[in-house]
Amino acid sequence: MNAVLEPLNAPANANSAVENSAGLDAAAIEALNARYAPLSFEQRLQALYRDFPVDKVLVTSSFAATSAFFLHVVSTLEPAQQIAFIDTGYHFPETLAYREYLTQRFGLTVFDVKPDEFHHQFTVAEKTYLSDPDLCCAVNKVQPLDAIKPRYQVWVSSLMGWQTDDRAAMKIFEPRRGIIKFNPMIDVSREQRDAYIREHDLPFHPLVAQGYSSIGCIHCTVKGEGRSGRWQGKPKTECGLHL
Ligand code: SF4
Repeated sequence: MNAVLEPLNAPANANSAVENSAGLDAAAIEALNARYAPLSFEQRLQALYRDFPVDKVLVTSSFAATSAFFLHVVSTLEPAQQIAFIDTGYHFPETLAYREYLTQRFGLTVFDVKPDEFHHQFTVAEKTYLSDPDLCCAVNKVQPLDAIKPRYQVWVSSLMGWQTDDRAAMKIFEPRRGIIKFNPMIDVSREQRDAYIREHDLPFHPLVAQGYSSIGCIHCTVKGEGRSGRWQGKPKTECGLHL
């Protein structure tokens, strides 16, 4: 049996609280971190698909500025991996077009994760993206994803440490709100990412050419460097999915 699958199936250490769908206790998560740390981001993903069944791996994409990088890596290494798109109902038309383009080009299987319609309409009527963006993100992003998380054991992110201070502190594997987060690219530099994009001639989101660097919902995204164009004028820096 695989060294990592063992703790998945074994009862957790009685002294460790296990509150994630993979059933991994703190010691098992630390063991994964130690084993994956010396690997490249591609080797980490290859190892993940040896250690976990693909149908227990959750991959989400917002089809944002440089999503082609992450999606190209994942779809090359594991073509059977399905991609969850969190459809807040507030995306730019260019994002939906980029999603279609990448889906065709990489042969992706993408499925939508949508908010409950009643609560989504409340955010429309109340313009909560202006009055209470944390509530708006909770309704349109966090709760819909929380609803599907129990189907999976591991959630793969494309977060990189240089993007924000919060991200810089993240580990490769960490428990997060009932699931194990896997951050294989957390120590990938911006230069490494850009080199991969050049090498594979990957397309940016169409709005990047217009001065947008980080692209989310239409109400909460303006032009700017890095993530400065997100939730401008508000203290918010993350949608709450990853924290
Ligand atoms: S990013 Fe803005 S519009 Fe989108 S869910 Fe969050 S607050 Fe609402």
